Order: sequence, then structure tokens, then C-alpha cells
Amino acid sequence: MASQGKMVRSELKQELSALDAYLNRVFKIAILAPSIATLTAAIYFTVLKAAGWYPNIPIPVLVIFDIMDVSFLVTSIWFMKTSFAEDGILKREKLRMGKAFCVVVIIVQWNAISYMSPMREWWAFMFFFAAFGMLFFDMKMMFAAVVGVSASTFISWAVMSDLFIGMSDDPLKEAVVRVICVIWTMSVLLLITYFGSKFLVEELEKYANFDTLTHLLNRRSMDNYLQEAYRQANTGKSSFCLLMADIDDFKKVNDTYGHDCGDEVLKYVAQTISTGVKKTDNVFRWGGEEICILLNTDEERAVAAAERIRKDIEHDRVNYRNEASVSVTVTMGVSPYRDGMTIQAMMDDADAKLYWGKQHGKNQVVNVLPQEPKPSKKEKKGKSEDDSQMPETDYSALMQSV
Ligand code: GH3
Ligand code: MG
Ligand code: MG
Repeated sequence: MASQGKMVRSELKQELSALDAYLNRVFKIAILAPSIATLTAAIYFTVLKAAGWYPNIPIPVLVIFDIMDVSFLVTSIWFMKTSFAEDGILKREKLRMGKAFCVVVIIVQWNAISYMSPMREWWAFMFFFAAFGMLFFDMKMMFAAVVGVSASTFISWAVMSDLFIGMSDDPLKEAVVRVICVIWTMSVLLLITYFGSKFLVEELEKYANFDTLTHLLNRRSMDNYLQEAYRQANTGKSSFCLLMADIDDFKKVNDTYGHDCGDEVLKYVAQTISTGVKKTDNVFRWGGEEICILLNTDEERAVAAAERIRKDIEHDRVNYRNEASVSVTVTMGVSPYRDGMTIQAMMDDADAKLYWGKQHGKNQVVNVLPQEPKPSKKEKKGKSEDDSQMPETDYSALMQSV
């Protein structure tokens, strides 16, 4: 039971986008960081006041400030404790609330400090306050924090001009310099958030979706592509076919030339398939030396493409470090989409055809199964017993949402 729960959790986590997975990990820190900083400020002001500094802060104001900062911390802890569902996934509404809470903390704390202790240098700490929002990589949130902090600063300067800009000999010049600094600082924060979320998250997404050895899309990313193709086909906009390809006698390659050579062969096959399909098609490493191809075309063209790719793979040999020249072939099963067919059924169909091809000479594309009794599960199991790394062809977990 426990291990089942663990399995479900890890499967669910696999479905998360890179940004979601990142937020899942970072949420507790991100929600706690501003409150820790505010509490530190409360302790700082209280200790200095007790030591006789900052006489201009009235005790009741300082007490309210301290209570407010402690309540920020308590709220953060509440968020940390209540924001995760049983499966360990961050709840969407709590993420939204948490972000809003951080923005409020940033703006309120910034204003409180500015008014309590209106030294001319404080405004330069705006960066520090607003920067807490960056952990979320959310432009809207960051924009709210930046506008809130900047606007309250400008308002303070307008309302309490003697305290904020009256200290300079040339108030106008100082005001201009400060406004430029504020705009520049806040723009930097927004730029970091924008490029961080755009490039960093895109890069994370890439790592999460691609297989590192073959550079093909990985199994985890397949669901989205399949659903889209399925949706289009269901609305009659286009047709698609699923192909399952498996390298023939790959174990022998590993056994004869070593695992590294096997990897080279796998890369060669992956590359040949990738270059053999259109840009709009998608190629996935299904697992081990099995490759799944999603062709956005009809049956006839898909079979022709598969046949062409099969020949391309067969045609060249893989030169492994000038030590070995390895020939390689693949067997493929083609399953064209037909009205009412589920993706699960297509996967089973492609798999059955691939299996038939393996049993009948390999190095071929199988599109139609001859009318003969399907191999029993037992027979199939017997065949894959020596296949230590071959993945179980259980598509149900992946296809649930279709
Ligand atoms: P068949 O023609 O029936 O497909 O036979 P096969 O030898 O290709 O299939 P089998 O399932 O017996 O062996 C697959 C082998 O693929 C076993 C496994 O060690 C190897 N393999 C799986 N993933 C990798 C990989 O990433 N790199 C290398 N080098 N080998 C891999
Ligand atoms: Mg194989
Ligand atoms: Mg295999």
C-alpha cells in the first residue's frame, strides 16, 4: 500500500511542468524569506530602540510593527503547513494566495520602515525588499511588488518632501537622481524575472522533456503531443499515425562491441529517424531501444515514411571509434488513427504489429496484421524475459488523461 502511494506520487510529480516542479520545491523558502527578513528588521529596530537609538520611533508604533512582523512569520508558517496536498503537490490556490501575501508583506514592510525611520538612505534598500518576489519567476507578481514599492516611495517623497528630499542642497537634482535610480533598479528586477522565467524555465523544460542520450523527446513529454494530435484528429482537422520502432538484436551489439558502442548505435538510429520525419512530426524515446514516432499524416504516407526510414537506417553502418563498423536494422509497427480509436488502443496496435514483425524476420515495417491468432500474453512474457531493460509496454498510466 505504502509503495503504491509512493509510486502514484512520483508519477504525479513527473506530470508537473519544470516551473511547477521548481515552485513545488522552492515554495517554502520563497514564502518564508520575506517574513524572516521582516522579523529580522523588527528585532533590529527593537534592539536599537532598547539601546536608546532611534528615539524618533514612538514605542506604540514599534510594538505594532513588531506584532505585524511576527504575524507575517506566523502566516508564512501557516502557508508552509497548509499549501501542499496529500500527494505532496503544491495547491494552485495556495500558490496564488502565497504570492499575493508576499507582495503585501513587501509593500507594507517597505512603507512601515520608510515612515518609521525616514532616513534618506532607506530608499536604496528597495531592491532588497522587492527582490523577494523574484523567487517565484512570475512577472505579474513582480510587477505588482515593483509598482507598489516604487509608487509608495514616490508618494512618500511627495507627501513628506521635507524628510525625503529636503535634506539636499538641490532638491530637484536629488529627486531626479532618485527617480532614475528607482526606475533603473526596478527595471533590473523585472528584467531578471522576465529573462529568468523565459530562459531558465525554458531550459529546465527542455531538460525535463528531452532524453539526454538521444536528444529525442522523452516519454514523459509524450502525453501532451498525443493529446493534441488526438484532439485534431477527432475534430476531423487532420490524421495521424503512431509508430513503434525497436532496434533489432540490439543486445548483440552491446554484448559484442560494448555498451558505449550500443549507445552510438542508438544515437544513430534516433538521429536517422529525426531527420527522416517532418518538423511537425515528433519522435520520442519510449524507453531502452524503443522509439515512438508520431506522424501527423495519413496511413499511406506514414507507411512510406517508415519504409524510407527503415531503409536509411539499414543503408549506413555505424563507425564506432574506427574499431567497429556496425550494421543496424529496426522493426516498426504502424498504427493509423481510426475513428473512435483510443490512444491506448493505437499503442497496443502498434506494439502488436512490432511484435509480429520481430517474430517474422525483423527489419520490416508492419502495417497490417495477418489474420492469425494473436500471441498470448504468456508467450509475449516469455520473449521479454531476457530483456532486462526493455520497458513494460503498459501505456495506461501515460494515457489516462486522453
Ligand atoms: P529484438 O530484435 O527482439 O528487439 O532484440 P534486442 O536484442 O534488440 O532486444 P532485447 O530486448 O533482447 O535487448 C534490448 C537491449 O537494449 C537490452 C538493453 O541492455 C539494451 N539497452 C537498453 N537501453 C540501452 C541504452 O540506453 N544503451 C545501450 N547501449 N543499450 C541499451
Ligand atoms: Mg530490440
Ligand atoms: Mg526492445
